[in-house]
Amino acid sequence: MDLRLTDEQHARREAARRFAADVIEPWAERIDREDTTPPSLQAALRASGYLGAALPTEWGGGGIDPVSHGLMTEEIGRVSSSVRSLLTVHDMGAQAITRFGTAEQKARWLPPLCAGEKIIAFALSEPDVGSAAQTIQTRAVERGNTLLLTGVKRWITYGLVADLFLVFAQCDGMPVALVVERETAGLHIKPVTNVFGMRGAMLAELRFDGVAVSRDCQIGPTGAGITFVASAALDHGRFSVAWGSTGIIQACLHACLGYVQQRRQGASRLKDYQLIRRQLADMLVAHTAARALCYRSACLRAQGDPRAVMETSLAKYHASAAAMRVATDAVHMHGANGCSEDYPVSRYLRDATVMGIVEGTHEMHQLALASYAFQRPYLLD
Ligand SMILES: Cc1cc2nc3c(=O)[nH]c(=O)nc-3n(C[C@H](O)[C@H](O)[C@H](O)COP(=O)(O)OP(=O)(O)OC[C@H]3O[C@@H](n4cnc5c(N)ncnc54)[C@H](O)[C@@H]3O)c2cc1C
Repeated sequence: MDLRLTDEQHARREAARRFAADVIEPWAERIDREDTTPPSLQAALRASGYLGAALPTEWGGGGIDPVSHGLMTEEIGRVSSSVRSLLTVHDMGAQAITRFGTAEQKARWLPPLCAGEKIIAFALSEPDVGSAAQTIQTRAVERGNTLLLTGVKRWITYGLVADLFLVFAQCDGMPVALVVERETAGLHIKPVTNVFGMRGAMLAELRFDGVAVSRDCQIGPTGAGITFVASAALDHGRFSVAWGSTGIIQACLHACLGYVQQRRQGASRLKDYQLIRRQLADMLVAHTAARALCYRSACLRAQGDPRAVMETSLAKYHASAAAMRVATDAVHMHGANGCSEDYPVSRYLRDATVMGIVEGTHEMHQLALASYAFQRPYLLD
């Protein structure tokens, strides 16, 4: 694994860092406080090219390599997990169409998705079903060449503004994946408010009341909805959440380094206390380790290595757990100020907590990684 960035990767990271600092960061606190991403920022993101950055050039995407994609995600996730989550779900939906869509479906949906003219959200979770995705209760009943969708999806990131939804349902007991357009009759969308973290991610609950969806909108074969389509999309989501978590760790470290240099208690500045320095060292190690695992996952993805899926799970589990620990320490290091909205660290902690739940909870990754451990992949390296 070559840990040096190419000139192109370096330039892409610098560009993402500037975009994050100039365009997103000025809004980051407000996004969190007001539970929304302002339309002007949504427009800037749509125009930025970042929504389609990792999608195929054939359809107008940027076609960037996984390392560049990860670095870009880390930079954006460093300033706003809410905004980063828009890139995540959009990529999940569009990548699923890229991989499993027919030629007609790709020609219909990928150009506007690659251009950021349309946004796609990922609708798997339901009020009563999360981790056990195979047991979703939304039903798709066949009526000729149409499927009638009935059920409720909840916690759908950027569902309040998405133009398309990748929806999962059971059709005669077999999972199917369908693209549903926002304006379809019988689809009711309402906000999910007062969430703990990623508060600007414009979460929605979707209610399908016998929504008629043409068979032309089914992605992949009947029966492959969860095992193939959702799993592949979630793999992209985990990659993004892993890098986004390294961004949170980076943000925590940055905030703490600044704070301990100016905050004085007793005769010394906080930076001179050894226990504080130990925590800073642990944060630095956490960031370096999380980024290294993310980088490994990106390199394996670039090589098309079959281990990439589990190495992405490993990176996601480690980085999101590390982000929670580091963010907790960051709040403590800020004392009472850490509990106030005048400092960003409480937001980082709330967002880091969400990172350990989305795209598979810590426990689900632990279960999968334990099975992976039995395969002893490291002995083969
Ligand atoms: C901010 C936010 C954004 C989200 N965005 C989306 C989105 O865009 N699209 C979407 O489809 N979903 C989304 N979700 C939902 C998310 O994917 C689910 O919350 C997640 O999959 C966990 O499911 P659950 O909440 O139902 O928890 P549950 O599955 O009920 O789990 C509860 C607890 O039990 C544990 N548990 C469950 N099963 C097992 C087991 N077999 N062994 C051991 N422990 C177990 C879990 O690890 C967890 O600790 C979002 C959630 C949040 C908070």
